[in-house]
Amino acid sequence: MTITVFGAGAIGGITGAALARAGHDVLLVDKAADHVAAMNAGGLTVERRDGAETVAVRAITPDIERLVRDMIETMHAAPGVGLAANQVGVALSVAVVDITAGEKPDEVQVLINPRIVECSGSYADEEGCLSLPGFSESVTRPDRCVVEAMDLDGRIRTLEGRDLLARAFNHEIDHLRGRLFIEHLSPLKRRFIKRKVQKKMRAGDWDLVPV
Ligand SMILES: [Zn+2]
Repeated sequence: MTITVFGAGAIGGITGAALARAGHDVLLVDKAADHVAAMNAGGLTVERRDGAETVAVRAITPDIERLVRDMIETMHAAPGVGLAANQVGVALSVAVVDITAGEKPDEVQVLINPRIVECSGSYADEEGCLSLPGFSESVTRPDRCVVEAMDLDGRIRTLEGRDLLARAFNHEIDHLRGRLFIEHLSPLKRRFIKRKVQKKMRAGDWDLVPV
């Protein structure tokens, strides 16, 4: 399993190197969210500056089952209607969605390696994100979306979402590709929010990178 370490400075580097020696794949992500370095037991292997992304899950292991359970718990505790693994520091293509926000536990959708098959229509609605607490903006999204994803039994399933469910699928799949909802806003609005976030980070209010 890939472990993400936030902070590419000295402490992040030392922690990352220790985890890599212990046999983990490690992603180092810095505070500005534009610098990612991958390490494994062979040392520093990849370095890129294109934001944090996720890698596909190869098999359903007890680690993946635990990750999904923890993510569902975190999403419900927030409370939120969706959560992507890279929001909790794991750079794997896993997301959970529950548009009932915990009211109907059977309606939790687990999306492993999800991909959008087709989308249609569009509508605008207010959207927020657990990675950007306190910010919400009107975002235009498709009103119907078909997604293909693996479930916890390792089966590929086709899921159809309308309205809020289509929005949640899109929002979470965006996360897994390193995109936040603010990428859908005008450059002016995006800059405004980014500046506020940077201010909070400088003030020490946030120490995790929003991904
Ligand atoms: Zn989000």
